[in-house]
Amino acid sequence: MRMVIWNRKVQLASSEELKKLQLKLLRKQINRVYERSKFYRVKFKEAKLKPTMVKSLDDVKRLPLTSREELEENYHDILAVPLSEVATIRLTSGTTGRPLKIAHTRRDVEMVSEASARKLTYHGVTSRDVVQVTASYGLWQGAWSVHWGAEKIGACVIPVGPGDTERQILLIKQFGTTVLYGVTNYHLRILEVAKALGEDLSKYNLKLGICVAEKPSKSQIRILEKEFGYQKVAIDYGATEFPGFSVHCEEEDSHHVWGDYYLVEVVDPETHEPLGDGGRGELVITSLQREAFPLIRYLSRDVTNYFGFHKCKCGMAHPKVGVDIDREDFMTKIRGVAVFPGHVEFILSIFPELTGRCQIIADKRTPKHEATLKVEVSGDPSMALQKSLRGKIVDEVKNRVGITFNEVIFVPVGTFEGKFKKAIVIT
Ligand SMILES: [Zn+2]
Repeated sequence: MRMVIWNRKVQLASSEELKKLQLKLLRKQINRVYERSKFYRVKFKEAKLKPTMVKSLDDVKRLPLTSREELEENYHDILAVPLSEVATIRLTSGTTGRPLKIAHTRRDVEMVSEASARKLTYHGVTSRDVVQVTASYGLWQGAWSVHWGAEKIGACVIPVGPGDTERQILLIKQFGTTVLYGVTNYHLRILEVAKALGEDLSKYNLKLGICVAEKPSKSQIRILEKEFGYQKVAIDYGATEFPGFSVHCEEEDSHHVWGDYYLVEVVDPETHEPLGDGGRGELVITSLQREAFPLIRYLSRDVTNYFGFHKCKCGMAHPKVGVDIDREDFMTKIRGVAVFPGHVEFILSIFPELTGRCQIIADKRTPKHEATLKVEVSGDPSMALQKSLRGKIVDEVKNRVGITFNEVIFVPVGTFEGKFKKAIVIT
């Protein structure tokens, strides 16, 4: 599928142009939230900060962080527009027992549509495509974003939502669906049902699969390409709190964050100390143009690598974050060191013999908390190759994460498909 640049001025801006634009938007946004959002004004005042103190992009680090709990508990105080300007709301389950409510103005919706239009065209979708959306509509954001973007570029949208898998297959056939959007496991479920019906999905018009929620493994991508006949499988990342966030770039397998919409930092998940470019930590997100429900230094609880601005082979310089994303809640402590399965997966991705999927098992009953790493291996490596791989894996993880695995066990491809625990702690 041929990549098309939807918005040349923004998408092809250089790092310097983007940074200049971000500073302009950041200063405007900080002024705006100080004037209009009671929640942020109080926080800034408590920290003895005035909007005029933001003179460079680095000054964002002086602003107070915002937690998910704060978003859950302060909906009305965060709102930076009158209720009459709220065009739509979203809700997700909260961590404090209260749902997380997000509001959007018409312009907020337009920005999400624009980001989604950029993403779809970047993946090669055009007005001639038929986009079948199998993710949930309702109060969750994902399906709406792709729906709005597909409408904006003039594609035909089938807003089916999840479930009734036989009907999904019928729609793929009847309407010549070219793009299928849905969670990774639902793609696999459709395949299972198609096989039971004796249907060969690769015979139809499908050419792009967009997987959301769970990153597919390399072997799953190969299965999807072969069985659905996809020319490309793209990974979608974003959240209800920060819709229209990024686009998956195949060069270096990472996500470009739309720099005109979001300013991204990365901090140590425990101390919240800022980490530099190239660091792996919790993504901290500031929305640069959101009107109704702005995010200022929002602690996303998603842990990944931040690669910063640089001109990518795809032509865009929008800052990049890694695809191996951990929820901070999945952190496992081994001998006092915070270990994230996604970080270990990121390290394993340099070994072509491995699929990149793994499972960490920490046994806290043993005096030294013995740790085992199970890694999925693509082929059938000889004993000699296994021995050398084992040594390299232990060294790489030790150097980059700071813990030594006592044992590395190779398991065949397919062991870690579907839902499985990436980290198991035996207590
Ligand atoms: Zn790129």
